[in-house]
Amino acid sequence: MTLQQQEPSSSPAPARLDPHSADAGGPTLPVINPATEEQIGTIAAGTATAVAAAVERAQEGGREWASFSWRRRSELLFALGDRLAEAAEDLALTDTLDSGNPISGMRYDAGRAEEELRYFAGLGGEAKGDTIPWTAEQFGLTFREPYGVVGRITAFNHPLLYAVGKSAAPLITGNAVVLKPSEHTSLSTLKFAELAAELLPDGVLSVVTGTGAQAGIALVEHPGVPRIAFTGSVPTGRAVLRGAAEHIKDVSLELGGKNPMVVFPDVDLPSAAAAAVAGMNLRRSTGQSCQSTSRLLVHASIAEAFTSRLVELVEALRIGDPRRDDVEVGPLSFAAHYQRVLDYIEVGRAEGATLLTGGGRPAGIDVGYFVAPTIFADVDPGMRIAQEEIFGPVISILTWREVDEMVELANSVEYGLTANVWTQDLSSAFRTAQRLDAGMVWVNGEAGRPAGVPFGGFKHSGIGKEGSLAELLGYTREKSVIMRLV
Ligand code: NAD
Repeated sequence: MTLQQQEPSSSPAPARLDPHSADAGGPTLPVINPATEEQIGTIAAGTATAVAAAVERAQEGGREWASFSWRRRSELLFALGDRLAEAAEDLALTDTLDSGNPISGMRYDAGRAEEELRYFAGLGGEAKGDTIPWTAEQFGLTFREPYGVVGRITAFNHPLLYAVGKSAAPLITGNAVVLKPSEHTSLSTLKFAELAAELLPDGVLSVVTGTGAQAGIALVEHPGVPRIAFTGSVPTGRAVLRGAAEHIKDVSLELGGKNPMVVFPDVDLPSAAAAAVAGMNLRRSTGQSCQSTSRLLVHASIAEAFTSRLVELVEALRIGDPRRDDVEVGPLSFAAHYQRVLDYIEVGRAEGATLLTGGGRPAGIDVGYFVAPTIFADVDPGMRIAQEEIFGPVISILTWREVDEMVELANSVEYGLTANVWTQDLSSAFRTAQRLDAGMVWVNGEAGRPAGVPFGGFKHSGIGKEGSLAELLGYTREKSVIMRLV
């Protein structure tokens, strides 16, 4: 591991409050730069009052927005894409200062955010219906209507990408969106809402910042929000489902993962080891990624060679000031999460797994929530570090000999978000992909995916698909009309 601590010149994000919040001037939460542990701003600690005000504005703005042709909405969203492109560098830096994610990763996220916005902005005409034949005089028609107000609650790890990408489908289909970003990384969402406010009718896109316990629950339970879309952890996902039950809301959930990367004995070892590092999304979010390949299922015959190559690659990663272009691993995003990841490392040690590298704060870095990328070998399938999502730079290596054993191992966790299969035998790859309980499987891949590929988990990893036509349709209610010609 190489330390990179030289300070580049750049200014911190400005301290600010959500100007639209009904709680503006009220209680605030500090914004902490996780690389320095310094306070760089404040956000409003939104309450049910702020949520109610945002929903009221959204209902009003949403009516006007829904009355626009989809073509008009599309033009405005493409224009918003142009604004995003102009502001990309500032937004990327904001995310780096707020989340600690390396700047190269946050530049990539800004590009992906724009890509997702443009993808959905071009798809408006696909929110179409069917005709169903009946008799000579009668037939059925279906229409897809917006819900009205969509509540969008997001996780902390890719702040701008979620704010933009997860608003695009509900907006193009004619809904207003109330965003509730993570209280740990809200700044870029607020900046995005400012850009949107210059183009979209008032209330069409608003943000309520604050904790889940206050703003999040209030949004989930508000009777004026019939559609909730949530990205976050499994326990919070359960709470969201419970909160939405009273008003029988339509809910989609993008939840956690404990994703296997399966390595067959025939792989090109250096490429597979490099993919195992890339799959952890260290460079984009320090391993704080729902799709991180945190369980490596390596064939026993190559485990030793694969492991030593992996350790070499991980130890060569440059860790340090995330504003530097050449830094590949930043700090974790907030203090409680830092402690949580350290606790998991202790659990791994106590359970008897072998710590190969990392294991705590990197030597030479005294400030910031930094954890050295960590690899455990000799991990048994029943260990907590093999079963539970750590959501940080911690890799567990498990070995297998028979394909059936490997499939059972891969499917033995409560999650089913993504998986990765590495082999040169495409039949084996395809058969394995068919047998894995995962909503998305890469074959000889890493972590990238284009807009348009459905993303969403099986089992406890979620409900529904995003990033695709299914997401677009998921923000519409289908209405059937039976027509009689008289
Ligand atoms: P979290 O569940 O702690 O919080 C997510 C959001 O929910 C935050 O905005 C939070 O304020 C809010 N919240 C908390 N309690 C709430 C409640 N009772 N009601 C309503 N809202 C509430 O998750 P996190 O720590 O921000 O993110 C990490 C988790 O998110 C991991 O499990 C990760 O795998 C998952 N995640 C999944 C995906 C995906 O696409 N499947 C993407 C990113 C992150």
